[in-house]
Amino acid sequence: MRCRICMQPARWWRRRCDDCRRLATVFAAHRGADMATMMELFVASGAPRDKVEKFLSADLDGEGAVCDQIAADMTNDLLQALGRAGRQTPRGVEYLRQRGGWMTLDRRPPE
Ligand SMILES: [Zn+2]
Repeated sequence: MRCRICMQPARWWRRRCDDCRRLATVFAAHRGADMATMMELFVASGAPRDKVEKFLSADLDGEGAVCDQIAADMTNDLLQALGRAGRQTPRGVEYLRQRGGWMTLDRRPPE
């Protein structure tokens, strides 16, 4: 049987090879992380680069490609950050500005 994600041979009772299973575990465990962080985690899982790329374009659960889901999570974080700024006092706006504005809004703000 071949892995449904990377099309490489996988153990016959598996729908995913060991690399892709690890990638899926990392992805599930770190939902909400930004793309750069997620890429570091994927590479750190030991999966070869070409498998990471196939994994990113794979649709695991019918919710869209992994890379699109990461981007959506980042966008949701961004909207949340902006919404928070909109409800905030000038001190809150200053906080966002001091953090560097748009370039850092895709990262989860410290609580
Ligand atoms: Zn695979």
